[in-house]
Amino acid sequence: MERIKMTTPLVEMDGDEMTRILWKMIKDDLILPFVDLKSEYYDLGLEHRNETNDQVTVDASNATKKYGVAVKCATITPNAARMTEYNLKEMWKSPNGTIRAMLDGTVFRAPIVVKGIEPNVRTWKKPITIARHAYGDVYKATEMKIPAAGKVELVYTKEDGTEERALIHNFTGAGVVQGQHNVCASIESFARSCFEYALSTKQDLWFSSKDTISKSYDHTFKDIFQEIFDAEYKEKFDACGIEYFYTLIDDAVARVMKSEGGFIWACKNYDGDVMSDMISSAFGSLAMMTSVLVSPHGYFEYEAAHGTVQRHYYKHLKGEKTSTNSVATIFAWSGALRKRGELDELPELVKFADDLEKACLGTIESGIMTGDLARITTIKNPKTVDSEGFIKAIRKTLEENL
Ligand code: NAP
Ligand code: MG
Repeated sequence: MERIKMTTPLVEMDGDEMTRILWKMIKDDLILPFVDLKSEYYDLGLEHRNETNDQVTVDASNATKKYGVAVKCATITPNAARMTEYNLKEMWKSPNGTIRAMLDGTVFRAPIVVKGIEPNVRTWKKPITIARHAYGDVYKATEMKIPAAGKVELVYTKEDGTEERALIHNFTGAGVVQGQHNVCASIESFARSCFEYALSTKQDLWFSSKDTISKSYDHTFKDIFQEIFDAEYKEKFDACGIEYFYTLIDDAVARVMKSEGGFIWACKNYDGDVMSDMISSAFGSLAMMTSVLVSPHGYFEYEAAHGTVQRHYYKHLKGEKTSTNSVATIFAWSGALRKRGELDELPELVKFADDLEKACLGTIESGIMTGDLARITTIKNPKTVDSEGFIKAIRKTLEENL
């Protein structure tokens, strides 16, 4: 069989532990036999990050800026235990944090929907994608305990030294206060990333906050989204046949529960944190969640939503069988290959990405799955396979379908 040709390299970021093992299997069994893979390889495994003083993460991000599309394996974010385990020179920062800061992006997480793994909400037929703003609000807040009566104010000191004040509360007894902030540049990036992603996936975009109560803070988010939409995206959305609307968060929650899914829900930082856990657990499993970082400049970085599955890796090192689900990592590859195919106008590559995803879903629907899914499936008598067996089964389905 002639392998599918690529024209522009994909930025490939390898990672750690069990997902690094899966990465190689996926490439060898599911990608390389079918695609004449053009990739620029960066080893973000912790050992190599340590050897390069983390320069490799910066290089990989710069390559993503150059080529536009990257696929990333899960990586260890070092903590004290990892410092000893890997004999690290420094407690290197989270690679995802470094990449996000360099590409200035928003993370979109969507469940992979498959028959046999049923969402807990009966009406949900299609995935619901959460777009979470990843800067500011309560995550960068300053807080104070107020021990006794007294006045608390907000003070803004301008560069010329003059002040503007607003009373928070005249305390008559003990209490608490909190000061939050956000910056317009970050909100603008967030809005553009959401509009770009809605266009690229042809899904409606919802944005919700509490502007009726928070008349300056949340209202600014609402206004920035609307201004950017009207000025830059309205015509593109019309042409694409998709819709953008803003609604109050209470209304959004009610609508989400009654919806069929199939849209993007943009959330402020706290709302996105809470709602993404609700959506992912209601859809079934973290191992069936895709994650893509979309930059407002049009760069895309695809990965799995889960980590390096350390517990399974230690079993693997002891020579024991593991049953680790590779679907989210395979979908990171298919997502990146599809995007590369769309940008380079390679319909065969786009079709291969579709076929690969169908083979994953088809394999699960035929009753062959890893342990995490076998525990929750509605399919009778599922066949639980090990990590390698699952990838081999997907290969077989893929070949039968091609
Ligand atoms: P994790 O790797 O997501 O795994 C947590 C648990 O979830 C696993 O022990 C396993 O449960 C289950 N699980 C996750 N993915 C699975 C899969 N594909 N198949 C089957 N089960 C799966 O989180 P963690 O153990 O807390 O973190 C491990 C390392 O990953 C850390 O060093 C962390 O820094 C890193 N991390 C990286 C990323 C990223 O690169 N995007 C994200 C999160 C965490 P059972 O053990 O019950 O089977
Ligand atoms: Mg959380």
